[in-house]
Amino acid sequence: MTIIDGKMISAQIKDEVKEKVAALKQEGKSVTLAVILVGADPASQVYVGNKKKACEYTGIISESYELDEKTTQEELLSLIDKLNDREDINGILVQLPLPAHIDEKSVIDRISPEKDVDGFHPESAGKLMIGEKGFLPCTPAGIIELIKRSGISISGKRCVVIGRSNIVGKPVALLMLRENATVTICHSKTEDLKSICKEADILIVAIGKPKMIGRDYVKEGACVIDVGIHRLEGKKLCGDVDFDDVKDIAGAITPVPGGVGPMTIAMLMKNCIENV
Ligand code: NAD
Repeated sequence: MTIIDGKMISAQIKDEVKEKVAALKQEGKSVTLAVILVGADPASQVYVGNKKKACEYTGIISESYELDEKTTQEELLSLIDKLNDREDINGILVQLPLPAHIDEKSVIDRISPEKDVDGFHPESAGKLMIGEKGFLPCTPAGIIELIKRSGISISGKRCVVIGRSNIVGKPVALLMLRENATVTICHSKTEDLKSICKEADILIVAIGKPKMIGRDYVKEGACVIDVGIHRLEGKKLCGDVDFDDVKDIAGAITPVPGGVGPMTIAMLMKNCIENV
């Protein structure tokens, strides 16, 4: 059984981005990511801090906007307009969730698709659907990199994705299809989930329920990708997969922490240099 090392693979990707940023610098080009945080949600502050650190490491300039909780939607949209118009800004990231008085969809829709490094804009989602080049959402794109860089072949394999969210389940299913897997999407209304999962050569789990997937969902030798992140009492992290129960039956498995988690920021960095 292989433990898929997301920490190592994400570090490789960040190093590749760092090299590319340095090469761009030689050509006189800089890369800048605008990061917008509204309010003082502690988890969001940590995420934004990690994104800034990754920018620092790779040589990407991060321009930070830490806005008051009471910022109006109009104020936020007008900031996005300004950033859209600035030629020196390559990517715009609005940390979600936003305070309840701001409509997230209006904000996401306002970001120029050319700067949509999170890949959440409807134009990016549409391009993914029809197979055109566009920004890919970071967590799903990171999952594909994890699988490929671990030497696991995707083409022709049976892939089951549990979860159909717009940020993980649906896009990762489309990406696996693009890689020529035969893909099944399961969700909360799926009947006989266990037997469907047991057919998977590659099982991607994005449910949001701690340790829900045990060995009785997993075919022997399958590759298991755990997207879930939960903080248990005592601060220990776990995923949607019961790692200890599954590890002996899986052929390869991502741990939590250190699996899918670190890939998201690495792919964000990769997206920032995409259109430079
Ligand atoms: P979500 O809540 O939007 O979607 C969960 C999906 O799981 C839904 O489509 C639902 O139909 C399905 N589901 C729920 N209960 C089910 C059940 N009993 N059986 C089968 N399907 C069921 O969640 P999300 O945003 O896709 O995130 C999923 C998990 O991944 C969460 O734990 C989240 O914290 C984590 N996550 C991690 C990263 C990262 O590692 N960077 C990024 C995004 C999300």
